[in-house]
Amino acid sequence: MPRSRAELARALGLSKPALGDLVGDLIELGLVLEAAPTSIQRGRRPAPLRINPRRFCVMGIDLGVDTYELGLYNPLGQPLQILQTPSGVGKGAEVVYSRLLEAAQHLIEQAPVPVVAVGVASPGPISFERGQILTPPHFPDLHNMYLVERLQRDLDRPTYLEHDSAAAARRFLRSTSAENFIYILLQQGIGAGIVIKRQVYRGHHGFAGELGHMSVNMDGEPCPCGNRGCLENVAGTTAIEFRYLRLTKQSLPLSTIAELAHAGNPQALLSFEQAGRALGWAAVNLVNLFDPELLVLGGPGAAYADLLIPSLRHHLNTHAYPYLGWGEHLQILVDPLLNPIGPGAAECALEAIYLGDIPLP
Ligand SMILES: [Zn+2]
Repeated sequence: MPRSRAELARALGLSKPALGDLVGDLIELGLVLEAAPTSIQRGRRPAPLRINPRRFCVMGIDLGVDTYELGLYNPLGQPLQILQTPSGVGKGAEVVYSRLLEAAQHLIEQAPVPVVAVGVASPGPISFERGQILTPPHFPDLHNMYLVERLQRDLDRPTYLEHDSAAAARRFLRSTSAENFIYILLQQGIGAGIVIKRQVYRGHHGFAGELGHMSVNMDGEPCPCGNRGCLENVAGTTAIEFRYLRLTKQSLPLSTIAELAHAGNPQALLSFEQAGRALGWAAVNLVNLFDPELLVLGGPGAAYADLLIPSLRHHLNTHAYPYLGWGEHLQILVDPLLNPIGPGAAECALEAIYLGDIPLP
């Protein structure tokens, strides 16, 4: 939103001369544009300042299991171009990497303004320090790859790696003033972006947010992570399809099961209800641990939030300190962005620019 110098000085608690110096630098760098002052009857209306949306762009990459989504985003985080390409899952590390690289190079060639940095969002676990994909289940080809080093060298641009759920949470920060919240990314796997005082919490090793591997049944099915009864094996999108298959012997995509549930089909309703209940179980633990002001559901599974929230909410209300009403008071929101991961990856690259880590051309 365009703001005048006086409004910015007030909002930032700066004197007008101090703000003037800063704005002068930003205008010189081409990052901020200042409209000409307009005349009004008595005196001049202050000239509004706004971020220059065409100064540069960044690339945001969503490493999905079957599909890679690559996008160019302007300095405001708005998409300029989006490209999807099949990942080649199962074809080995060099095939999947070369598909990713070719798509990224193609997008850079098409870019209307310089692409100055690249953000990559991946399912966890990943190592931020080493810029390495570790061993995300369902994601065998890129296991142990030093992705940041390779992309940085091959694309010749600073590259940042982030957990997909943390990336989605970073993007959601643009839509909320909440200080402390947990963003639950619902897809085949389930992750949590934990936001504390508007900063994403990563944990000591950077593994924080592996919500999908919280055990909701200690005697449950084994999970590729080495644990048993993990949340994502009960409430992930594939798990819901699998439950419906077990109940009906019919293999259907999630969207069709959701249609059946909306039409009142009892097995379809039960499939979503049990996933919602498991999510409620996890949410109780999150509320007890973090006392967030907000829980956000996002990602492909959140398209069916209306089928998940009733049982999630019921479990939360009856198990999170019910006599204090912790669960009842917790606000649950659904991220309106259908795919928040690519924009979230771009957000990581933008943050590095705004922190001054990357010089602009
Ligand atoms: Zn697990």
